[in-house]
Amino acid sequence: MPNIENLLLPHIYRLKTYQGVSPSETLAEEAGIPLERVIRLNGNENPYGPSPQVAEALGAFRDYNHYPDPAQRKLRAALSDYLGVPAANIVAGNGSDEIIDLLMRMFLAPGDEIIIPVPTFGMYSFSADVAGATAVSVPRDANFDIDIEAIRLAITPRTKAIFFPTPNNPTGNLVTAAQTRALLDTGLLVVADEAYYDFCGATLMPLLPEYRNLVVLRTFSKWAGLAGLRIGAGAMDTELAATMMGMKPPYNVNLAAEIALLASLADTSNLLARVQSIVAERARLYELLSDIPGIEPWPSQANFILCKMPDGLGRAVYEGLCRRGVFLRYFDNDLLRDYIRVSVGKPEETDAVIAGFRAALAEAA
Ligand SMILES: *Cc1c(COP(=O)(O)O)cnc(C)c1O
Repeated sequence: MPNIENLLLPHIYRLKTYQGVSPSETLAEEAGIPLERVIRLNGNENPYGPSPQVAEALGAFRDYNHYPDPAQRKLRAALSDYLGVPAANIVAGNGSDEIIDLLMRMFLAPGDEIIIPVPTFGMYSFSADVAGATAVSVPRDANFDIDIEAIRLAITPRTKAIFFPTPNNPTGNLVTAAQTRALLDTGLLVVADEAYYDFCGATLMPLLPEYRNLVVLRTFSKWAGLAGLRIGAGAMDTELAATMMGMKPPYNVNLAAEIALLASLADTSNLLARVQSIVAERARLYELLSDIPGIEPWPSQANFILCKMPDGLGRAVYEGLCRRGVFLRYFDNDLLRDYIRVSVGKPEETDAVIAGFRAALAEAA
C-alpha cells in the first residue's frame, strides 16, 4: 500500500481541528432528550431565523442550473449600499470565514506569523495553521482590552498581520478607532472583524479610505440569520480587493446565498427590528445572570454574554447545563477555563438558561 502520509504536508496532517458547533439533533441524542427540549445557544445564531422574504425568494428563483457570477456584480452592488463603500472595495465570501482564509493565503507563506489578541475567535489561528503559518497569541488585559504595547513587542520580521474581532468574540468588548490607528501605524495588515457590528453600531469602516492596510469584515450569519447559507464580505483597498477577486474560487458564493442576501437587504427594517429585540434581551439576560451568586457576566456589545463561573467550576457547570438540555459554549483552553459563553436567544430561552445555571451551579458547588 502506498504511504500517502509521506506525501501530505506535515502541518496539515497534524492540524489542530476547529471545534465547530454540533447540530441540535446530535446534541439531543448525546443528552438523551427529545429534540424539542434542546436549548441551543452555543453558536451566536439568530433565534428568529432569516427574513421571511428569503424563503420566498429562494422558492421563486428558477435559474439554479446557472453558475453564479464570478465578478459578484449584483452582490457587490447591494453590499456597497449596505456597507457604504464602493463596490470595487468589496469581496463577498462563502461566509466571512472564507475571506479570513483568503487573506491568510494571500499574505502568509509557511513560517510567517500573525498576531491575535487572545482570548478570541478560533478561526484566525485555525486558518493561519492551515496556511502553515503561526498565530502568535498576545494576551488581553484584565478587562479583555487589547494591549497595544504588548502587540508591538510581539512583532517580528515574519509578522504579516493582526486579526481581531470588534466586538470581540467571546468577550463582547470593542476595539476603539484610536487603538486601531495605533495598530495600522505598524504598517502590518490589520483585519477588523465586525461580525457583530449590527448589535452595537460601532464600526471602523470610516478608517478605510485612510489606510490601505485595513480590512473590515462583515457577515450575514448573525444579524440576518443566514449562518447556514454562508455569506459574508470584506471591505478593503481597491487593489487588494481586485487581487482577492482574482484568486478566490470563481464561484465561491452560491446562488442561494446571493438570493438570500439580496432578499435580506430588501427587508432590513424587519431584520433590524429583530436585532433590537435581541439587544433588549441581551440587557435582560445580563441582569438575570448578575443576580445569580457565583456568576459574573461581562458587559457585551454583541449577541452573546461571556460569564465567569466560580474558580474551577467552569467545565462542571457546562456539563451540568448540557445534561439539562441547555447547550452553551465552553472553551477548552487555559484563558477561558472557568468561562461559559451564552448566545442571546428568545425570552423563553433566557428563562431556561437562568434556571439551568442555577441548578447546574448548585450541583457543581
Ligand atoms: C461568527 C463569526 C464569524 C463567522 O462568520 P461567517 O460569516 O459565518 O463565516 C466571523 N468572525 C467572528 C468573530 C465570528 O464570531
